[in-house]
Amino acid sequence: MRLPQFEYFAPVSLEDALKLKDQMRTSAWILAGGTDLVVNLKHRLLAPAALISIRNIRNLTGIDLTPDTLVIRAGTALAQVASHPAVKEHFPILVKAINSIGAMAIQHFRGTIGGNLCLTPRCLFYNQSLFWRKGKGSCHRTGAKDCLALKGSESCQSICSGDTVPVLLALSASVRLVGLGGSRVVPLTEFFSGLGESPYHILPEEILTEIRIPLPWAPISWSYQRLGMRSAVDFPLVNAAAVAVLDKGKVEHLRLVISAVGPAPVILREAEKEIKGAQPEPRMADRAAEIALRAAGGVVVENAIQSRDYRVKMAGVMARRAVKEALRL
Ligand SMILES: Cc1cc2nc3c(=O)[nH]c(=O)nc-3n(C[C@H](O)[C@H](O)[C@H](O)COP(=O)(O)OP(=O)(O)OC[C@H]3O[C@@H](n4cnc5c(N)ncnc54)[C@H](O)[C@@H]3O)c2cc1C
Ligand code: SF4
Repeated sequence: MRLPQFEYFAPVSLEDALKLKDQMRTSAWILAGGTDLVVNLKHRLLAPAALISIRNIRNLTGIDLTPDTLVIRAGTALAQVASHPAVKEHFPILVKAINSIGAMAIQHFRGTIGGNLCLTPRCLFYNQSLFWRKGKGSCHRTGAKDCLALKGSESCQSICSGDTVPVLLALSASVRLVGLGGSRVVPLTEFFSGLGESPYHILPEEILTEIRIPLPWAPISWSYQRLGMRSAVDFPLVNAAAVAVLDKGKVEHLRLVISAVGPAPVILREAEKEIKGAQPEPRMADRAAEIALRAAGGVVVENAIQSRDYRVKMAGVMARRAVKEALRL
């Protein structure tokens, strides 16, 4: 498959990249590792006038450990993140999530953490060649005003499929978004819009430059669970992350997230509320499963290779396993 035509820019400074983005806004897309974007271009899902590669911008790669935060620059390759001593020491859950992504040789060395977080949400009716899509008709993402997966839906229900998404959310991470006018730090809880056609609260003139993870105030116990058709080269069908602090026999802190169910990850706040402050007990995992099942039932639509019912059911299973492991039940 050949690429469509576009202008290509490879600035060496963030300022030059921001100037280009400011001029071209939505007609220019940021190219990081390209492992998602290039496939989408080849499928003619996008037709940007220009690509702005951020690969030559040196201060967009690397990892810094400050006294209270781990700062991962957006252009850092997944392999570099997973092998960094500070990440391994403080956040082995992130290492596990990265290790489950695609294939080592392509996704881990070329793919970046910023690209993983900003992955275009996926759908069975969308991530296909132009030839395939011609047989099905158009939807919100391809110029029509309906959804092929959920007739009458006012927005796109495609799936937030990044492996690091629920993990970074469970770790209370935030992102730095930079434009020519300045920068802002946005907690990940406010980053996802829930709309498949414009999934992130990032302005057209902004670039994501950093992912900031606060260092835990106490040792954390954690779990990352993921369902895939194969153990490699497959996007998650459902994933779940749990991060807990256990202290004096009680659950001091818990963040429980399921993802790959709809356009945005879902924080299971009801489960967190019930579990926090109590002694870990096996029934907590069952309650988390019930709550996850209900939450997934409200967002999963028939747009993946597996049926909606199966994905909903497995959201419950992933949440149960995540809580069991994180609470050491
Ligand atoms: C066969 C195959 C299997 C895969 N399996 C998985 C998997 O199991 N799990 C998974 O999570 N992913 C998977 N991927 C997707 C992809 O490889 C990874 O998510 C990777 O981390 C994407 O990073 P990238 O740097 O290549 O992103 P790119 O393709 O360069 O960009 C992805 C999107 O993010 C935007 N973007 C990138 N960086 C920035 C930035 N700094 N600021 C603003 N916007 C930005 C781009 O404009 C684009 O829309 C797979 C891909 C393929 C082809
Ligand atoms: S969820 Fe609906 S609107 Fe979104 S890509 Fe799929 S078919 Fe299109």
